[in-house]
Amino acid sequence: EKFRDGLTKTRDNFVGAMNELVKDYRTVDEEFFEELEELLIGADVGVNTVMELVDTLRDEAKRRNIKDAKDIQPVISEKLAELLQKSEDETELRVNADGLTVYLFVGVNGVGKTTSIGKLAHKLKAEGKKVMLAAGDTFRAGAIEQLEVWGERAGVDVIKQQAGSDPAAVMYDAIHSAKSKGVDVLLCDTAGRLQNKVNLMNELEKVKRVLTREIPDAPHEVLLVLDATTGQNAMSQAKTFGQSTEVTGIVLTKLDGTAKGGIVLAIRNELDIPVKLVGLGEGADDLHEFNAEQYVNGLFA
Ligand code: GDP
Repeated sequence: EKFRDGLTKTRDNFVGAMNELVKDYRTVDEEFFEELEELLIGADVGVNTVMELVDTLRDEAKRRNIKDAKDIQPVISEKLAELLQKSEDETELRVNADGLTVYLFVGVNGVGKTTSIGKLAHKLKAEGKKVMLAAGDTFRAGAIEQLEVWGERAGVDVIKQQAGSDPAAVMYDAIHSAKSKGVDVLLCDTAGRLQNKVNLMNELEKVKRVLTREIPDAPHEVLLVLDATTGQNAMSQAKTFGQSTEVTGIVLTKLDGTAKGGIVLAIRNELDIPVKLVGLGEGADDLHEFNAEQYVNGLFA
């Protein structure tokens, strides 16, 4: 349901053309594959991924002796799902079974980082978990207040210091407070400065060291937040952050706001980082665990 609604724009853009392409009178020939390639590239799937996918489909069509375009549609769905999710459990957030779980959120300003933290707090709280937020973006004016608004909305504590303070000090406070209050999940915001890669890397490493000192395998996830509407820009942000710290999962926001939802494929396949959460709207309930099968069904529904 959620995926179907959230992917309306992508579907309108993509599926009309796809339906045209898989009409039953069409023959699966080289021209068919070329049109399919164009269509997928137009949906921001990414050239390398498209080439890989279409090569696989060519082989499958030959192997299964598929002649009619309508018969290849289920194979397209199947192969898309395989590209999107390499293993069944890769989209699940890692949890510390022995106590406090810590997630670090990274990403540039405006991608929906604060909103995603707020939504996840809401979701985890609804699942019965005790949640705390750490206002680690001490750099951007308004970031702390914005996180507090979400904290209030979700009914969870926010650990903060004044603007301009050391993010690592905020993390130190937060992890101690979380441990002493028996918190289950601590969600940590960070500043998203990309202008200076060395600073970014140093800051993230310092923050991580503070967390790791208290809990050896913390942070349990480093989640990079990317805005789906920014297409190739999101890809280059991912590469920069990937060079600055080890990213364990992607939160892809604003999928509802793009007609080019194919970016998910490019991200999963070309960056080799699993997409764990997707944002399908601005509301508190609009963050979802990514599910490849539902996503693909949402595309063709
Ligand atoms: P930050 O600077 O990265 O913390 O970004 P914000 O969390 O402030 O979000 C920027 C804008 O994007 C806000 O207006 C959010 O409501 C909006 N936004 C965030 N996630 C989504 C989403 O999944 N869908 C839509 N439509 N808007 C979103």
